[in-house]
Amino acid sequence: MARPFNFSAGPAALPLEVLEQAAAEMLDWHGSGVSVMEMSHRGRDFLSICEQAERDLRELLAVPPSFRILFMQGGGLGQNAIVPMNLIGRAASHTADFVLTGSWSIKSQVEAGRYGQAHIAAKIKGERPVRLPSPSSWQLNASPSYVHLCSNETIAGIEFQDLPDLRALGCDAPLVIDCSSHIASRPIAWRRVGLAYAGAQKNIGPAGLTLVIVRDDLLGHALPICPSVFDYRNLADQGSMFNTPPTYAIYIAGLTFQWLKRQTEDGLTGLAAIEARNIAKAKLLYDCIDASSLYRNDVDPSCRSRMNVPFFLADESLTEPFLALAREAGLLQLKGHKAVGGLRASLYNAMPIEGVQALVRHMHAFEANHA
Ligand SMILES: *Cc1c(COP(=O)(O)O)cnc(C)c1O
Repeated sequence: MARPFNFSAGPAALPLEVLEQAAAEMLDWHGSGVSVMEMSHRGRDFLSICEQAERDLRELLAVPPSFRILFMQGGGLGQNAIVPMNLIGRAASHTADFVLTGSWSIKSQVEAGRYGQAHIAAKIKGERPVRLPSPSSWQLNASPSYVHLCSNETIAGIEFQDLPDLRALGCDAPLVIDCSSHIASRPIAWRRVGLAYAGAQKNIGPAGLTLVIVRDDLLGHALPICPSVFDYRNLADQGSMFNTPPTYAIYIAGLTFQWLKRQTEDGLTGLAAIEARNIAKAKLLYDCIDASSLYRNDVDPSCRSRMNVPFFLADESLTEPFLALAREAGLLQLKGHKAVGGLRASLYNAMPIEGVQALVRHMHAFEANHA
């Protein structure tokens, strides 16, 4: 029986090979006699799983040695509080700058305001097509504790194709990025980043694991109110084992990292292969939308997301019939976010090009029948 294609925005599809391997190892991991869920997080077996996952992620994303990788809990929204609790005290002003480009960055700014001054440095305009505010127009503070942006807005489908170079803007504060919905879909320019965080459930593994990749010098600045389990210094010192980490989610993420490392495309391997595939997948879908008079996407091509493609039908009453026929064709979870309506296809790493081809076929057939 063919599996349907799952376009969920998150928790999202995982590579079939990862699920199959996890199923095969469920009852007895590598002859240990127990499942990964039943192991001590401090035992040799789990430590080897965790260390391998960290090594593979470091290699995949070319994370420099000056950065620490932390496996945390609490999700992306947890980091909206945990980041300011750890970083906002760095500068005497207790001020951070925020670039607002959609729902997720707005949530980050509002939450940070509970711990310090959360200053809005730039805000996306209501124009169509949607464009990101140019970094040269950002109103940054003289010396903020950090500058925050969401590098891929999952709901609006807006992605930074390049991260800003804050130093070129005269700002030496660290850049913090919420990359929850496109981590491991493309390289990260670490020269420009101080901290990157991501919930795992979009592109990496199951919900429950949150990745934090943070430059060494940003550890050790937590506010006194910061819970010890959320103090980056404690997690870094104890290899993410300050308390029990989300062990099974780390294991699945580790299998996903190994899957990513194995991928090949046009002579490329690993992350480069995945990025090339993601570019091809997104192009296929945006080209279909742009060539059609029935479908519409409102984001300027300069900042369209490769991962999350929101689109609308010219006649909104056709949205439900479109979804019903899509489900029959084995194309799941294409409903748009409730805040914006319409449709949304999430094309995370685990979505094969065949899934996008099937979606485009469905879109053509639907248009032919409803033009
Ligand atoms: C999904 C998402 C979040 C929320 O993550 P939780 O794990 O639900 O807290 C935050 N930021 C972005 C960009 C997201 O896509």
